[in-house]
Amino acid sequence: MKRLFSGIQPSGELHLGNYLGAVSNWVKLQESYHSFICIVDYHAITQSYDRKDMRTRVLHMAADLMACGIDPERSVLFVQSRVPEHTELCWIFNAVAQYGDLSRMTQFKDKAARQAENINVGLFDYPVLQSADILLYKAQVVPVGEDQVQHVEFTRRIARGFNRRWGKLFPEPDALLSSTPRLLGLDGQAKMSKSMGNTIVLATPEKQIRKQLSRAATDPARVKREDPGDPDNCNVFTLHKFFSNEERLGWVRDGCTSAGIGCVDCKRALADSMLDQLSDYRRRREELLAEPEKVERILAEGAERASAVARQTMEQVRDKLGLWR
Ligand code: SF4
Repeated sequence: MKRLFSGIQPSGELHLGNYLGAVSNWVKLQESYHSFICIVDYHAITQSYDRKDMRTRVLHMAADLMACGIDPERSVLFVQSRVPEHTELCWIFNAVAQYGDLSRMTQFKDKAARQAENINVGLFDYPVLQSADILLYKAQVVPVGEDQVQHVEFTRRIARGFNRRWGKLFPEPDALLSSTPRLLGLDGQAKMSKSMGNTIVLATPEKQIRKQLSRAATDPARVKREDPGDPDNCNVFTLHKFFSNEERLGWVRDGCTSAGIGCVDCKRALADSMLDQLSDYRRRREELLAEPEKVERILAEGAERASAVARQTMEQVRDKLGLWR
């Protein structure tokens, strides 16, 4: 099996954008790839955060991932800071990474603009640590959305640069583009993200999910209930496609284009479909959070499995560099 690496920040609870754009895909991919799923807490510290919450955020993210279907028997699920080789390899890659490449990273420019008061070096170096995350496990595949392709390209350059300078060791990983189209948030304008406040946290109580969906933007051309709408120009319909069955999709399409249904009915049906599909996730999440020591044990076991690979890679790296051993 080829190796796959994916990382997710412990940025609070899992939301719809993470689930549809990444995690549901990882769940399928773990069937055909030897997957390393990492909660990247070292990346998270480049942004301001409350240290009291960090452990809980990591724990909740682990529970979220497992509740969504990440199987810790099949995938190696672990926390980045429990495997110190990540930062060790990052330093070595810093000797290969080019300043010009890093300064062109779109994500750095975006983040720097958003946190102008704290443009730390870690934020700038983020893609180098990300390359170390991936190459420490010699992953051949990295599932990403389009906005992350630049970082995988960067990782390929790092691998190439290392191999050229010190001898072949790392594969050049391929980006595995998610088939999920770019997801717009409930505002129907910006990309779905927690920081934009336009998404739904999966663990939100049912009543609140219904309320949030009731405010979602619809086809802007459908002004009145009597106006026919265009589902293909409506973000609510995009979400229906993820959660509703064919019968319900047909009901929305016919009802919308003929003005047979109103947007309120349509959103109510979306909430039903969504809550139905997420019911297993919500139940499993509660069970896992009721036993935090079990989640901690799984993460510790994952860190051990990850460390075994990481240590071996670092031995090879030190050997290639001619470092004292
Ligand atoms: Fe969108 Fe549904 Fe309203 Fe049509 S009926 S515009 S698909 S919310």
